[in-house]
Amino acid sequence: MNAARHSHLKDLDYSVVQQCMHCGLCLPTCPTYDSTKVERNSPRGRIALMRAIADGQLEPTQAFGEEMYFCLGCLACQTACPAGVNYAELFEHARAEVEQSGALKSPRRNFIRNLALKWLFMDLRRLRFVARLLRAYQRWGLQTLLRRSGILKLFPRRLQELEAMTPEIQSRFSGELIPHVTPAIGDKKFRVALLTGCAQDPIFSDVNRDTAEVLARNGCEVITPRAQSCCGSLHAHNGEWGLAQELARRNIEQFPPEEFDAIITNAGGCGSHLKHFGKLLADDVAYRQRATLWDRRVKDVHEWLGEIRAEGRGARGEGISASSVRDASPVTVVYHDSCHLCHGQKITAQPRELLRGIPGIRLVDLPESSWCCGSAGIYNLTQPEMAGELLRRKIGHIKSTGAQVVATANPGCLLQIINGARAEGLPLRVVHPMTLLAEAYRRRDSA
Ligand code: SF4
Ligand code: SF4
Repeated sequence: MNAARHSHLKDLDYSVVQQCMHCGLCLPTCPTYDSTKVERNSPRGRIALMRAIADGQLEPTQAFGEEMYFCLGCLACQTACPAGVNYAELFEHARAEVEQSGALKSPRRNFIRNLALKWLFMDLRRLRFVARLLRAYQRWGLQTLLRRSGILKLFPRRLQELEAMTPEIQSRFSGELIPHVTPAIGDKKFRVALLTGCAQDPIFSDVNRDTAEVLARNGCEVITPRAQSCCGSLHAHNGEWGLAQELARRNIEQFPPEEFDAIITNAGGCGSHLKHFGKLLADDVAYRQRATLWDRRVKDVHEWLGEIRAEGRGARGEGISASSVRDASPVTVVYHDSCHLCHGQKITAQPRELLRGIPGIRLVDLPESSWCCGSAGIYNLTQPEMAGELLRRKIGHIKSTGAQVVATANPGCLLQIINGARAEGLPLRVVHPMTLLAEAYRRRDSA
């Protein structure tokens, strides 16, 4: 081993590395272990490998790298663990170790990583440019033509699968749908900022618009900065620690935490990362204090609405309740927990409460609602077999409830379940809870 090489796992606080007491209580909650029953594919097995590297007993080999990327990073093990093991931190450092060591390096992999992580997601103008090309491909009929012509069958199977997963690009992005300042409806109680996300913006800009509307109806003046950056969760979860730090600094500059009562995110995966800038920038003298304040200001939208409702400070004192929205057509809805909202942020009750508060919605339990759907960031692109297995399991449970609507609060989960429903020809509406809320408010207004 190169003695000069920086080791993320060796440098990690040893109290985090040695916390696991090998009890195995996390094993039944781990989707990869559940599928293979191989110890190495379990949280306990992975932590043992990480510790062996931290102790200098193991090199970060290709097999280690593959194991770390076979892990979904869903954090179900963290919820189950009675010892309080911080798997999120271990996981991020383990993947950074893999990248630092070059254990998985190959020209193809390097090219894709450089293109996605270092180019596309470091400047969202580039991402929007690519999204516009994709939109033209979809709107001008090229996609339909290609699909109908059968030409795609000439391409490798994986490419065909990827093409089938292409998300529909919205006709207008967040910056065109949401004003820079959305005034509060009624008395202004709060001043909040809205993060519109990276992929969320071109694919689910309507969810961002609905979020701004719901916030405004609850006494918030909503500032949606025109210049926004990716939150960096994609980078942190894929071993690009330095880029994640750079993006954290940019976010703090674009959303000065001193100026807002809350900085709102509606994406579970982003929120889980956004709340830990303090740790990410702990060694940065210029930013660490602001990063700590930032962590306190970041709120998932359901969490924030729950807080202001509990304080009785919703719009005109109404909060969000069954009496404040009206709907005539009952519909059966299930709620799927995004992993990083429920395991990463422990937010499970608030979205359900909000959904139950919408008259006309019958919220029924979804079996295994917090079991990963297989999206897991870009896992469905890098590990299609396991992701497909998890998606089929999720769709099976949704079908068993007879639900017409699935609500979930993360763009990756939305896309994954939309694709799963489409593959099975299931007439299922898959939406963010904010969309259901905004629609209910509009119906109330027009009643
Ligand atoms: S993060 Fe998820 S897939 Fe990875 S070890 Fe934990 S439970 Fe298993
Ligand atoms: S991670 Fe926690 S639950 Fe899993 S084996 Fe270790 S101590 Fe037990």
